[in-house]
Parts: sequence; structure tokens; C-alpha cells
Amino acid sequence: MNYRGLASIAVLSTAVLGATVVLFDVIKLNHTDNEPTFSMAPLSLGNPASAATLRTRNLAGNLVVDEEDAPLLPAITIPEPIVKTVHVKSGATLSGLLTGAGIERVEAARIVTTFSEAFNPRKIRAGQNLDLFFMPSDDDSPDQFVGLAYEPTVLRTVRVKRIDDGFSAWEEEKVLTTERYEAHGRIDDSLYMAGVRANLPVPVLIELIRAYSWDVDFQRSIRKGDGFAVLYEAQHDESGEILAYGDILFAELELSGDKLPIYQFKTGEDLVDYFDDKGRSAKKTLMRTPIDGARLSSGFGNRKHPVLGYNKMHKGVDFAAARGTPIYAAGDGAIDYAGWQGGYGKYVRIRHNGEYKTAYAHMKSIASGMKTGKRVRQGQVIGYVGTTGRSTGPHLHYEILKNGRQVNPMKVKMPSGQKLKGEDLERFLAVAGQLDKLYAEISGDTTVAQIEP
Ligand SMILES: [Zn+2]
Repeated sequence: MNYRGLASIAVLSTAVLGATVVLFDVIKLNHTDNEPTFSMAPLSLGNPASAATLRTRNLAGNLVVDEEDAPLLPAITIPEPIVKTVHVKSGATLSGLLTGAGIERVEAARIVTTFSEAFNPRKIRAGQNLDLFFMPSDDDSPDQFVGLAYEPTVLRTVRVKRIDDGFSAWEEEKVLTTERYEAHGRIDDSLYMAGVRANLPVPVLIELIRAYSWDVDFQRSIRKGDGFAVLYEAQHDESGEILAYGDILFAELELSGDKLPIYQFKTGEDLVDYFDDKGRSAKKTLMRTPIDGARLSSGFGNRKHPVLGYNKMHKGVDFAAARGTPIYAAGDGAIDYAGWQGGYGKYVRIRHNGEYKTAYAHMKSIASGMKTGKRVRQGQVIGYVGTTGRSTGPHLHYEILKNGRQVNPMKVKMPSGQKLKGEDLERFLAVAGQLDKLYAEISGDTTVAQIEP
């Protein structure tokens, strides 16, 4: 909850018969036209306020004073309500929280009863906060409880306020509006830092990096001078406070002069994915069989090791093939390791993104140029079948590593790597065209290339 509105307190005092001072204040909590104004009855010092001392209120609840009376009304400052934020611990009750904050037991019981009219107090959850408002007293008596606010969810607020003869409670629901925003910038060090500098919210930034993770090796492919642009959604309430970030609708990375746009597109009821300008999914699949004309000779799992003779977990799959058969990169990525690796013999490992790597063992030879950091494309030849290391005959031992652990390449669930076709592709291209336009409108730019550093 945002209590910026709380500070607006209109304080007027008037001298009546030179003796009675009436303090009248209006407290507005996030005031909007359709929500009750948090205003209080006059607090009087000395004689109670007579009708004559009260001036007209305008629609916002503020006191309206006739011009000629104004000089009689020297403004004085009284303290604003104090907000006590109470953290709800597990097992806590509303009455316990109220008495714990210094409210008398009888009054706390009345507050609980009133609160229950709007919200079941037993549904107040541990870990949440309760804001209690008190008017500071100007003598030794305890501060007066004037209201509370509790948010069961970011979209709902339950409020209690003191009224003349007790309390009243109600629930407010926020109306969220979705707005579109854009951010763009040049990359000096990392996309993350550039995004933060361009005020791209962190959840959107993480989504951006995730969306590109199959295509871009963020540790190695980013160079100084590269650029990015993002069009994203955010939901805000009536006060303009952003409560949630929605999807990225469009993004573009410019890496070493190459532009990589992606567009959000719904391929089914709840299936939202990102596609490039040709309708290819931004998520790529890995080849389960990165070799042609080979026969699966040994599956994944426990087996009697052909060389060692005892039962051993087989952490990959073996493809028997003629010596010298080319081995392909199972997906786009960068060489993570290329060289001799113990029992694996001549070995290449490719890092595809933050989640997946693939490894290829027992090669006769590693293809030329395959060195750590080298970018490879799916299907590119990385080496040739051999029987180096602990091996009984020419074969490819192939592993897929998910978060550093070998998984069964034949069974692991992977993105489809789909390419949109036919009607889907037509529909996608129309959506992408609209998103391009929308981005140009919002940013005032048409391409990343035009963006000034
Ligand atoms: Zn093997």
C-alpha cells in the first residue's frame, strides 16, 4: 500500500469567542473519486465545535472557508497520524495484534467485530502486514486508534476507520490498468547492467535474458556497443503505482551489428512463446541424435560396463558408427571444452544456454577450429567418430547435461524449436508487424540502430 496520500492533512483552526479552539482535520487515504475518504469527526479542544464554527466542505471533504474569514484562521500544524506497521506472525490473532499495539482490549474487540463485516480476520495470513493509524495525543493519554488497513492481496485492501459512535469497515478493490512501456540502451558491460541503467525493471530483464538464452551466450556473445530494445507491459493501479509486470511483447538485441528481434505470440489457449521475425521459436531444441546413419548401441542407465566389466551408470547414449562419421553440434551454443578428457578420450562439450550443455566423447579427431569459446550452430560438424579413451570400438558417446547433470537424451523434455507455418505464420507476421509499429510509436524510434548511445 502506498500511503503517500496520507500526508495531505488540511488543518484549520478558528478562534471562536476568543476562547474555543477547534481543530478540524481531514485525512485522505489514497483518495480517489470512488473510494471513501478517510475523514474524521472534528477533534475538539476545549468546548465542542458548534455548528457555527464548521465551514462548508467541498466534494473532496476539504474544508472550504470564506475568503473574508481566512485571516482569522491562522494555520497551525498538528502531528499527522502515526502509522504502526504490525508484522503478522504465525498463530497471531487480530485482537492479539491490536492489543499488542497498545489498543485496549474492549476497543480491540469492537474493531475485530467491525473488521469481520468486511473480511474474515482468521484469514489474515502470517508474513503479511497490518497498518494501524493513531492520532498522537497531546497529553499523557494514549494515542487514539483511528483506523487500519490490511491488504489480503495486492489487489484488495480492507480498511477500518473510527466513526462517531464506533468503527466502520469496508473493502476496496483495485482496478488495474495495463500499460505498455519501452526501454532501450547500449551495452557497455552486460545486458543486465545496461537494462538496469535504462530503468528496465528486473523481472522484465530476467524474462528478456531467459527469452534469448537459446540464441545468445550472455557470457561470451555480448560486446561493447551492442544494443537492446524492449516493449513490455505493466499493470498499475489508479494511483499509478506499478503492481505487476506483464509480458515482453517485443524485444530486439543488436549483437555485433546483427539484429535479433523476438515477438510474443500465442500459439494456443495458454501457450505464449517468442518467435523471431521469420516465425522461428526463440527456444531451440537439441538434437537427440547428433549424427547421421548411426545405430543406437547402448541406452542411458545402469548397465554392465563393456570395458570395466561391472555395473555402472551409463550417463549418455552410444551410437555405433563408422570411424570418421561426422558428429554435429546438437544445438547452437559455444564450445565449453574441447580436448582430451580421461576415459572420454577426445571430447567436446557445448554450452547451449544457462540450463543445457551437450557432450561428445571418444572422437577420432576434433574438427578444426573447435576451441573453448568458439560459437557453433546446430548441425555444424564438431568432430569425427572414433574410439579414443575407454572404448571398445568406434562409437559416439553423447550426453545431454541439464543444470550440470546428465539426463537421458532420448527422454528429456525439450522445447519444440517449432517454426510457424501456414495460417499460424500469417497470423504471427500480422501480430509482429503491429508490435513493430507499437514499439516505434512508444519509443519514437524505429530501430535499435537509430538509438543514440
Ligand atoms: Zn557411452
